[in-house]
Amino acid sequence: VKWTEGRGWHDAELTPYAPLSMDPANMTLHYAQTIFEGLKAYRQPDGTVATFRPEANAERFRSSARRMAMPEVPTELFIAACDALIQQDKGWVPSSGEASLYLRPFMIASEVGLGVRPANEYLFIVIASPAGAYFPGGVKPVSVWLSEEYVRAVKGGTGAAKTGGNYAASLVAQAEAAEHGCDQVVWLDAVEHRWIEEMGGMNLYFVYGDRIVTPSLTGSLLPGITRDSLLKIARDLGYTAEEGRISTEDWKRDNEAGTLTEVFACGTAAVITPVGSVKSARANWTQGDGEPGAVTMRLRKALLDLQTGVTPDTHGWMHPLG
Ligand code: PMP
Repeated sequence: VKWTEGRGWHDAELTPYAPLSMDPANMTLHYAQTIFEGLKAYRQPDGTVATFRPEANAERFRSSARRMAMPEVPTELFIAACDALIQQDKGWVPSSGEASLYLRPFMIASEVGLGVRPANEYLFIVIASPAGAYFPGGVKPVSVWLSEEYVRAVKGGTGAAKTGGNYAASLVAQAEAAEHGCDQVVWLDAVEHRWIEEMGGMNLYFVYGDRIVTPSLTGSLLPGITRDSLLKIARDLGYTAEEGRISTEDWKRDNEAGTLTEVFACGTAAVITPVGSVKSARANWTQGDGEPGAVTMRLRKALLDLQTGVTPDTHGWMHPLG
């Protein structure tokens, strides 16, 4: 779908997957007005296909657009575009289980020009790719690196928007994590470098017995849809679920004291991933016994059962393909 200043959204089309041709002075290539989303379509027990909370993705896409001085895609258009592609590709939605069709809606500037200003032309595109189970061989805890040198986002910055630059800025820290033998980076706040924010592509949850805590939305972390869903699912299951502030010292101390029983990360791609060990320039510890915890696995099953239609959709979160 195209957007032009003065005309709005126009010329929606469904076309075979193909490269985009671009002028070397395309403004996106220079000034990085890019935003994206990620959501999954799951096969339901009756054979139909449904997406999980696409309205929430549409809302976050609009909020990312506002931050990047881009036009908002109306929620109905966002969902209709995803639905049209799924309709076309529904043969690619795996027949059961947690495998899915991953959808990647994105928007870029399409105007040609070298001046720094918001573009007057944009493209909103949705592509799709089949996604297998994240842990085909069984859920495996990840090791994390606490990044004390680099920051992902600052107050007033673009941390709460799903924009390409945030991910570009995270690549050296991810490489640093890998050099230390860790799978993922955990980002800390930019001021004191001690408050836990989120992981490279997932939000974090801290399990204190039957109370689960996730870092508050400070404006510099992404408001994950899985994070939000789990606050509600955990309450349905009788846990206390809340937002709060957790420092690296809290994490280490409460783990040693045995009160912090489990830590897990959550997001569209991996659903829920246990954290098994933690490393920083100054410390190194095993989270709990290093194995996936009972609360983590229970919440993981509850979320997947909801997404795959095994349990009833009491929150009205599933969007069946019309
Ligand atoms: N944080 C970041 C930086 C991410 O890229 C993602 C993935 N979209 C998440 C958190 C988790 O968000 P969601 O649950 O909406 O996938």
